[in-house]
Amino acid sequence: MFDALSSKLEIALDRVRGRGRLDAATVDATLKEIRLALLEADVNFKVVKGIVERLRERLVGEEVAKALNPAQQVVKAVSQELERALGGESAGLALTGKPAVIMLAGLQGSGKTTAAGKLAKLLKSKGRHPMLVACDLQRPAAVQQLKVNAERVGVHVYAPVTAGDPVPVARESIAKARESGCDVVIVDTAGRLHVDEELMGQAAAIREAVQPDETLFVIDAMIGQEAVNVARAFLDGVGFDGVILSKLDGDARGGAALSVREVTGKPIKFASIGEKMEDFEAFHPDRMASRILG
Ligand code: GDP
Repeated sequence: MFDALSSKLEIALDRVRGRGRLDAATVDATLKEIRLALLEADVNFKVVKGIVERLRERLVGEEVAKALNPAQQVVKAVSQELERALGGESAGLALTGKPAVIMLAGLQGSGKTTAAGKLAKLLKSKGRHPMLVACDLQRPAAVQQLKVNAERVGVHVYAPVTAGDPVPVARESIAKARESGCDVVIVDTAGRLHVDEELMGQAAAIREAVQPDETLFVIDAMIGQEAVNVARAFLDGVGFDGVILSKLDGDARGGAALSVREVTGKPIKFASIGEKMEDFEAFHPDRMASRILG
């Protein structure tokens, strides 16, 4: 994860290591390399611009000029700017409904059904009683996969045999959850391989019907530059409160992680890091920033 970005940033930072004071030319050259490293990692160009501008302000400032060990200051500044781009504070879930409702939305293949199972497992480990709800009725395989995931993590599932409209299914699931003693409903919705008006409308209708405490947008970290456009389309078409970054275990170049938060203003809440149900963790911008800097 982030290997290419990490090694390029490392090279950029090597330029300042072991130096006494930093002259303008060195700061310039370092910033150029950082900019290139971020762009090559598929970080959105506006986000890159923001990071580099803030770094420039900091690195030509008093603090660094006076520092006896400027390299440390530079590394600290880069780390803080990455952390800031990733969202600063880590954000949890605000679950107040009885039952609380979490809805997952995203493109097909982004990892929604997998994330539904993982989230259920995580919540179960915290003493909650989740119910998975199958509202991806476009593909019978998706319903089956959700049932399998529910079984794997040992939680209830609501997947009535019905083709067609998932909105009533989502609505009914609230009463079903209460009947079964479940206190969190996790609604899995359908997606296509590309942004699609009809399915976007359907997800918006489900959201309207069940008024989720949390609508989470699931995005595959591997899709690179495209992440920003897809995230914007879902923000406009469905709306969401937070992001689940999936497939961070792959050779993702990091662009999605570093762009989605800045572009949507919504926090990344979880990282999905593998195919097993336990490969899932709360997202911590500070830890991710230090991981990127190696
Ligand atoms: P959905 O269409 O959005 O419901 O996506 P799925 O949950 O079916 O996931 C699509 C594929 O990606 C499946 O083969 C999953 O096993 C795989 N997948 C999901 N999340 C991750 C992850 O974090 N890491 C890896 N390596 N694979 C994942």
